[in-house]
Amino acid sequence: YSPIHVIGGGLAGSEAAWQIAQSGIPVILHEMRGVRETEAHKTDHLAELVCSNSFRSDDATSNAVGVLHAEMRLAGSLIMACADRNQVPAGGALAVDREGFSAAVTQAISDHPLIELTREEVSALPHEAWDLAIIATGPLTAPALAEAIQAQTGADALAFFDAIAPIIHTETIDMDVCWFQSRYDKVGPGGTGKDYINCPMDEAQYNAFVDALIAGDRIGFKEWEGTPYFDGCLPIEVMAERGRETLRHGPMKPMGLTNAHNPTVKAYAVVQLRQDNALGTLYNMVGFQTKLKYGAQADIIRMIPGLERAEFARLGGLHRNTYLNSPILLDHSLTLKSRPGLRFAGQITGCEGYVESASIGLLAGRFAAAERKGEALHLPPPTTAFGALLGHITGGHIVSDEEPGKRSFQPMNVNFGLFPPLDPGAIVKPEGVKRFRGKDKAIVKKGLVANRALADCAAWLGQEKGLLKS
Ligand code: FAD
Repeated sequence: YSPIHVIGGGLAGSEAAWQIAQSGIPVILHEMRGVRETEAHKTDHLAELVCSNSFRSDDATSNAVGVLHAEMRLAGSLIMACADRNQVPAGGALAVDREGFSAAVTQAISDHPLIELTREEVSALPHEAWDLAIIATGPLTAPALAEAIQAQTGADALAFFDAIAPIIHTETIDMDVCWFQSRYDKVGPGGTGKDYINCPMDEAQYNAFVDALIAGDRIGFKEWEGTPYFDGCLPIEVMAERGRETLRHGPMKPMGLTNAHNPTVKAYAVVQLRQDNALGTLYNMVGFQTKLKYGAQADIIRMIPGLERAEFARLGGLHRNTYLNSPILLDHSLTLKSRPGLRFAGQITGCEGYVESASIGLLAGRFAAAERKGEALHLPPPTTAFGALLGHITGGHIVSDEEPGKRSFQPMNVNFGLFPPLDPGAIVKPEGVKRFRGKDKAIVKKGLVANRALADCAAWLGQEKGLLKS
């Protein structure tokens, strides 16, 4: 076979290259870092994690991203294999040692006999000789290629800013004030039930903190004007502005946490920090993505009890995001309708998150490999997490009676709302349960959707369910 070209060696491009090579087809992977940097990446490693070190929930029975993890493992994902090998404790979440993780991906790609890694910036759309190619250049696609994509698609690429959360040196956290505990003492893979550092606040401290966030110096608002940013990743100061109680019901909720230094007094609000590296020398602030200026950021964070002397390994910041109007531009197998053989993968297609980006890379790689072999393309069923996310991106499952195919497309994490509903007859009250409504019913439904997804994914892959990691 002649090679398939993959442009961009991030989460999606690395996974796509791996899937193609594992199917026996040669790959040329073009990655610019090492030659040209991006605003957010710090190394030349493949699949570098630019912000949090978490792949989010690993629960494949009640969480959609946990289901996606399981499906990816089933499909032989390189990203999941390297994540599993570099796990750090994080309650029910799958978090990784970021250095170890991206070093492992880089090693696996470099060692694969069918993958050639070239360090170069691709500045134009793939030329004719690259008959099959995948663009996986991510939210920080280099400007020349972004312009070439715009020229080809004729559609305006949308741009907005994400905000990243600060990372603190553990030794500068006052453990006479803070304590280790996972919410509800939840013990996840490799965890102890004490995976997070918690900082307690009373009501007066919380109110002063919210006031400071609202008043804090920010990066100019002009950059944000008319800029849609992703609702699941709002800057902390924007959440504070939405209402005095918003943070206390969001990232600073005190539920499921008991102050080990003062067990009889319930904290009014709690700031949580999650381990960021295997050594445990760094902790990141959970949900504290911010667009505050560095000086204001450090001052305000040091108002938090236990963080008065915090030293920062990295402060939060602002970043661009670039993504296509995919439901209009791409077909169901992620191919640009106006350019046969050219696929897109990862965040540039309009998914959001490390795992989602990698999963779309996995699909694009498999689709391209099947096309090279002349095999029929089998799309993942919409009942799977793969299919649900692909449906969101390519518009396959969007139905609008009024304006078919027209909608305002926004990036999305995988979630149960993207899955087709269950047959009502499938939701049966468990034996011995008296009240079967609301939360209890939702839990049963999630479990059923998750089971259906994994069974259908296994069937799609033609594999045995027994291959699932327990
Ligand atoms: P990337 O991982 O960015 O990979 C794209 C690759 O393409 C890069 O290596 C880049 O160097 C290369 N490249 C770009 N242009 C060219 C070119 N012209 N030629 C050759 N190579 C090129 N998701 C989360 O789940 N959690 C988070 O905490 C999180 N934080 C984020 C913070 C920031 C600042 C940003 C921008 C995004 C964040 N995301 C986060 C979203 C997203 O999931 C990640 O950006 C993810 O890395 C996207 O994967 P990707 O493979 O699409 O892109």
